Amino acid sequence: MDLTPTELKLIDEKSLLIGWSDGQHRRYTFAELRKSCPCVTCRNERKASEAEPLKLPVLSPVELQPIKVEKMSLAGNYAYRITFNDGHNTGLFTFELLRELGTVVD
Ligand SMILES: [Zn+2]
Repeated sequence: MDLTPTELKLIDEKSLLIGWSDGQHRRYTFAELRKSCPCVTCRNERKASEAEPLKLPVLSPVELQPIKVEKMSLAGNYAYRITFNDGHNTGLFTFELLRELGTVVD
């Protein structure tokens, strides 16, 4: 079964809600989405920090800002391209990935 989003809305300044074609609603925090960015750069960064767990990441001033989603646009009919307020927008969040993230709400 192909699940597609039927609803997309902001909940507050930190999270958004996606309604799905099977009636499920999931809440996503911007921080979780940013952390889960599936682009190659972010995946490599996550891999690198797993390899060296004792090394604390050095946060740049941009990263210290609260992360926000500035824009979400549909990419084809299978994913959202998310633009974050740190300027990052190379991640394609497939519907499949989005169904694994977030938490179910009633
Ligand atoms: Zn990324």
